[in-house]
Amino acid sequence: MNFNDLFSSVNNIKGVGQVIAKKLSERGIENKIDLFLNLPTGAIDRTFCPKLDHLEVGKISTIFVRPVKHYFPRFRNLPNKVICKDEFGTIDIIFFNSRENYIKQILPLNEEVVISGKVAFYKNKFQITNPDYVQPVDKERDIKKIMAKYPAVTGISPKTIQKIYKEEIGKLKNFKEWHRNKLLEEMKWPTWYEAIYNLHNPSNISDVDKQSPFYRRLAFDEIFSNLLIFSEIKKRIKQLEKKPKNIPSEILIEIKKVIPFTLTNSQNNACAEILMDINSSKKMMRVLQGDVGSGKTIVSLISAFVTVKSGYQVAFLCPTELLAKQHYQLFKKLLISTNCSIQLLSGKLKNSEQNSIRNLLSKKKIDIIIGTHSLFQEKTLFQNLGLIIIDEQHKFGVQQRINLSLKGNINTDVLLMTATPIPRTLILTNYGDMDISTLKEKPFNKTNIQTLSKSTEKIDEVITFVEKRLELNDQIYWVTPLIEESEKLKLTAAIKRFDYLKKKLKVEIGLVHGSMKSDEKDKIMDEFINGKIKVIVSTTVIEVGIDNQNANTMIIENCERFGLSQLHQLRGRVGRGKKDAFCLLLYSKNIGENGKKRIQILKSSLDGFYISEEDLKLRGFGDIIGYKQSGEKDFLIADPVFHSDLFEIAKNEIEDIQSLKINIVDNYSYLLKIFKKDKILNIIDTG
Ligand code: ADP
Ligand code: MG
Repeated sequence: MNFNDLFSSVNNIKGVGQVIAKKLSERGIENKIDLFLNLPTGAIDRTFCPKLDHLEVGKISTIFVRPVKHYFPRFRNLPNKVICKDEFGTIDIIFFNSRENYIKQILPLNEEVVISGKVAFYKNKFQITNPDYVQPVDKERDIKKIMAKYPAVTGISPKTIQKIYKEEIGKLKNFKEWHRNKLLEEMKWPTWYEAIYNLHNPSNISDVDKQSPFYRRLAFDEIFSNLLIFSEIKKRIKQLEKKPKNIPSEILIEIKKVIPFTLTNSQNNACAEILMDINSSKKMMRVLQGDVGSGKTIVSLISAFVTVKSGYQVAFLCPTELLAKQHYQLFKKLLISTNCSIQLLSGKLKNSEQNSIRNLLSKKKIDIIIGTHSLFQEKTLFQNLGLIIIDEQHKFGVQQRINLSLKGNINTDVLLMTATPIPRTLILTNYGDMDISTLKEKPFNKTNIQTLSKSTEKIDEVITFVEKRLELNDQIYWVTPLIEESEKLKLTAAIKRFDYLKKKLKVEIGLVHGSMKSDEKDKIMDEFINGKIKVIVSTTVIEVGIDNQNANTMIIENCERFGLSQLHQLRGRVGRGKKDAFCLLLYSKNIGENGKKRIQILKSSLDGFYISEEDLKLRGFGDIIGYKQSGEKDFLIADPVFHSDLFEIAKNEIEDIQSLKINIVDNYSYLLKIFKKDKILNIIDTG
């Protein structure tokens, strides 16, 4: 098999027809390489071959026996049975749902066969029920071994899967090594071929373990290719020369005067880093990460302002209309004395109004434009766009981001702001192409948020608690259950709770949910923010961004259904001022261990960075809400929890090879192709 054969369809494999190919394709297995990278989840040891007087209950055993009697009972429900012997004992082989003829064919009387399966003991007799293998003895070698166990594919029997792998793995060859010998020797890693071969053909159970050298080599390859591509993108972007924006430092002093509070050290540092980028001749590609409530908005405002002062326009992209509006109002309020012209480009405006705003933009009558990503329609033209800011960027995928950074203008800097802190390992793989600023501290020492938990059954106590908070002039967020399957059910739950609260509480209550028109939603949010509505019942639509310092109590129903980071994000809506804040987690009777752990972690910490690491451990990679939503492809092989050390090693290796000026595209072309990363670089070259 030469390298290109890896990318030929599984259809070409003997025994794989259209039906099987289709089933495989539903599992994402299209080409032979997909098949090889679909690693076993474990292995079964079939090397234990006891004589029948040495059987052990519960053990997978491979036995050599002679069938001596067939029993085919004529009653339904009763299984078929074949009594087998060797020179030392007897065993019953039991078949449920097998036809008589088939059994006679595979277990003919008095001919020696090899049988493999789990041994049980029933009514004083040893037995194997529905054995995994029954074969003539000359097939011994195919069975009496350690067998890789693959994730189930609906519609294909495990045996067929075994056969497919057996057919192909033997044809695989070694390819020219892409890693440096030095690395392989230090890590004591096998070649790519040895890794693949031994994972599919293990000689020990531990070979298929996530920490085996075979597995680690492949996990490393995947992580490495991921980081390599990011580093390559970064390098190429850094080669682009832009016109430095000349921003005098007085401007920073000027803008800080209009901000009604003193910046935290983290905010000051981030501003300095951004200013340096903006002033340099390299395009800025920076991500600003910070916990919820760490004050990212002000940093973006300062960045926007200084960019405008150096004669450029700024585009600010928000994930929702609501947030766009809130940012717009804040920018207007704070920048009122600075003669910056700021506009909101709302998708809700009439076409003619939108066009007139676009017209003003193209004539540079607008300095800062705020909107959702409809802002980036082709018809929006800027005269000289100097900075794109993207808030809560986890709704965008890597590919979208690359397009964004490469489109537009060479002089356009890019600043992304993440909604939640990202686990250490994932920041490298998600933002390896970018520079990173982190807001480590929060403006308020948020120990004033108390996190409590209660069973939903004690709803009366919850109501009493809410009444007390309302008397103290607090406002309440009430988040209703997350029901993933159906928007309709979600709505029903929210409406039910809304009606219930309306009956119980004597204050104005609002309801917002995902299937509402956005202006209805905005109207209610507005009334909540200006205090007319005291309690807002919502599905998770309030998750991102919204800032109402007067609302300091949050109730989250069915908290066990939310991810840890998501709960933390929700909780971050309260405690944004100096007042005491409460987050009450309501759980239902059937809360699992994991759910309880999540509550415990939330109660013990307000640190989003810590929580995101714990989330990763609890839920595993790819499950973290937000990362998954972004549509970014999960790792196939690597597991950021098990293989966290490999990320650092990959990073160092990339730094080394870069200083050695190794031609990455040539040297690692096979690797990049294996992990389907080669196309990304093409986009950059052409785009
Ligand atoms: P996030 O990082 O979650 O987007 P925001 O930018 O919305 O956080 O800021 C959270 C709240 O903290 C806002 O009400 C904001 O006005 C306030 N804030 C931001 N920075 C400071 C600061 N240095 N001192 C006091 N309050 C601040
Ligand atoms: Mg924000």
